Amino acid sequence: MILNDFCEELSEALFPPLCLACSEVISGKAHEVFCPDCLRQITFITGSCCPVCGIVFPDSPAEDHLCGNCLERKPWFSSARAAVAYDGIILDAIHRFKYGRDITTGSALSTFLAGFKFEDMDFHLFDAIIPVPLHIKRLRERGFNQSIILSRALGKKHHLRVDFSLLKRCKLTLIQTGLDKNNRAKNISGAFVAGPKVKIQGKNLILVDDVYTTGSTVNECAKTLIRSGASKVAVLTLARVF
Ligand SMILES: [Zn+2]
Ligand SMILES: [Zn+2]
Repeated sequence: MILNDFCEELSEALFPPLCLACSEVISGKAHEVFCPDCLRQITFITGSCCPVCGIVFPDSPAEDHLCGNCLERKPWFSSARAAVAYDGIILDAIHRFKYGRDITTGSALSTFLAGFKFEDMDFHLFDAIIPVPLHIKRLRERGFNQSIILSRALGKKHHLRVDFSLLKRCKLTLIQTGLDKNNRAKNISGAFVAGPKVKIQGKNLILVDDVYTTGSTVNECAKTLIRSGASKVAVLTLARVF
């Protein structure tokens, strides 16, 4: 233990942690990802929200209730929660990770996600984490799946296995950016295929992705898993669009 503390102090002195956004040295906090100034710029998702899709209600009513979208058509997932809003320095960092192929940033973001306290998530109730899969062609273009990197950190933190075999992307779809909610849902329809039923039946699963935009992708994943017998599918993302 003492040796571990010494090693940690030595490594911090030699390689002090740098803020992911502004590159300032973060003194004395090896596990921190952002400096205090940058942390203040991040919009953490708190307050009263839709218990299913997690959209925050601006007027913060005393009790949670379903939002209009979930009342109109209830999603296949039981809940979707995100740590932070998809804007400012978080948006920049996710873009560096995903499109700039900056794995160091990805690793820091996954530490940040794993350290986030999701208030109403009881991780003990779940059997496995499933990263939202990329089509093999997109995987080859990008070189990695950002959801797997996020999933691994979450799995390690919450002692859950990450299982890629339960969901595959069988259809190469258009990039969702620029499509409205209806077209996103149409575009992604039938894009996934579930793994062996015996491994899915009766299981509580957590789907992990980097960003929740309209929820079309994770809803299609959840539909595929529920139709294959999953008991419950919850969604966790690093960021959410509002
Ligand atoms: Zn900073
Ligand atoms: Zn909702």
